[in-house]
Amino acid sequence: MDKYKVLIGLEMHCEISKTNTKVFSSAENSYKEIPNTNVRPVDMAFPGTLPVVNKEAIRKSLMASIILGCEQPEYMYFERKNYYYPDLPKGFQITQETKPAPVGIYGELEFECGKENKKVRINNLHLEEDAASSDHYASYSTIDYNRAGVPLLELVTEPDLHNADEAVAFLETMRSIYQYADISEADSKKGQIRCDVNVSIMDSDLDEKDSSNWGTKIEIKNVNSFGGVRDAINYEIERQIAKKEDGTYDDMEQQTRRWDEESGKTIYMRSKVDAIDYKYFVEPNIPKFKIAKEWIEEIKKDIPKLARERKDIYKNEYGLSDYDATILVKEKDISDYFDQTIEENIDPKIASNWISSIILGHLNKNYLSVQDIFVTPKMLAQLIELVEGKKISSKQGKEVLYKALMEEKEPTKIVEEEDVRQIGDEDSIKQVVLEVLKEQPQAIVQYQSGRTNIVDFLVGQVMKKTRGKANPAMTRSMMIEEIEKR
Ligand code: ADP
Ligand code: MG
Repeated sequence: MDKYKVLIGLEMHCEISKTNTKVFSSAENSYKEIPNTNVRPVDMAFPGTLPVVNKEAIRKSLMASIILGCEQPEYMYFERKNYYYPDLPKGFQITQETKPAPVGIYGELEFECGKENKKVRINNLHLEEDAASSDHYASYSTIDYNRAGVPLLELVTEPDLHNADEAVAFLETMRSIYQYADISEADSKKGQIRCDVNVSIMDSDLDEKDSSNWGTKIEIKNVNSFGGVRDAINYEIERQIAKKEDGTYDDMEQQTRRWDEESGKTIYMRSKVDAIDYKYFVEPNIPKFKIAKEWIEEIKKDIPKLARERKDIYKNEYGLSDYDATILVKEKDISDYFDQTIEENIDPKIASNWISSIILGHLNKNYLSVQDIFVTPKMLAQLIELVEGKKISSKQGKEVLYKALMEEKEPTKIVEEEDVRQIGDEDSIKQVVLEVLKEQPQAIVQYQSGRTNIVDFLVGQVMKKTRGKANPAMTRSMMIEEIEKR
């Protein structure tokens, strides 16, 4: 048994990317490439401007809150968190700090980590506005206010996670929930997800239920990839264990560190002992408002099927293996692609094979997402039908699909233009079989002397003559039948 137990609590920020406008202004909620073109006066804190709450952002936040089993507030309000930073033109951020104002408090989420089920308690889920984004160069910095005011959900867990695998599995589950519930693309590459990771260690014979046994909390700010979360946790565990072993752990203060990708280390930023006082107060420009019970019920009914439910359907109704179902639901877009393929009357197991072997292989190899590819579910279904109807062999089908993906051409067009077809009628195949046997008398002699695997060579000859179009199984059995006759 390990000498130490690790406690990890996460603060996961995810932008709500699926609203039309920002959380308190009418600027588009989009990722414009030209900096500072998507800004309204209120985002820039011009005097006399007032925020207006985006109802859809509240609805999406409440949906997340319901999914996480949180309590929703009867009345909702916002608060100001006061601090100065160049990316915060107002000098304060509108957020939700004091319970019960947040969109959700005291929830719980069950998630899978490897084959095990884990549970994490949710302390709260709150809605706030994102800050502007800044880029730092050697001798100057730039600021883009496009991001100022984008709706941002912050999820705070209790320290119920015990290693990097659990933390990452939890984050992946949350990303999946945000995607399936159409709350956010939850794309780390677009900077939509950022995490603060809190790590401490304690002697493993002590009870973790008693918080007075917990070790000193170390917060690692703004880790923006799941790989970074994993590496930062593992680094921090080692660093803290080393401090226990050399006797310096107890002198350590609560502190904020940052993750440095390049060196693979966490680096000291500031002590928590003299923590900033944000002087929170209720945001006076947004009156407290009631969240009707009926609205919550409506939102509950609108929750789409999440990954777990789809996975159960794939396994229990479609008979897919746990492995295949897991692969298909990992990304919502892939799961949608699969669903649309079987809506074209394709057997789910067959569709799953084609998608997980060829389509996903193509996506991974070329760093694409499924919306980027030319072959639609309908086109895939048409191709599968040709194979299932024995019009073309499965090998031909695969080649056509690769070609369709690479050349952005409809599979059925390729089949037609290149005259891809399978020779499946006995008479035509027999004719070629006899022809080959006539040309290869030596092979017949070899077969009769016991070298029966010469059949592979003879089948190959038939394939050559038909340019791969003969049905291989039929050719083989017919070939054996004909040789045996001699
Ligand atoms: P702060 O006010 O400094 O942000 P909170 O008590 O609100 O601190 O906790 C923030 C995060 O730190 C939560 O995710 C919580 O689970 C986590 N946390 C608190 N104590 C510990 C600890 N001893 N070890 C690891 N994580 C912790
Ligand atoms: Mg914090």
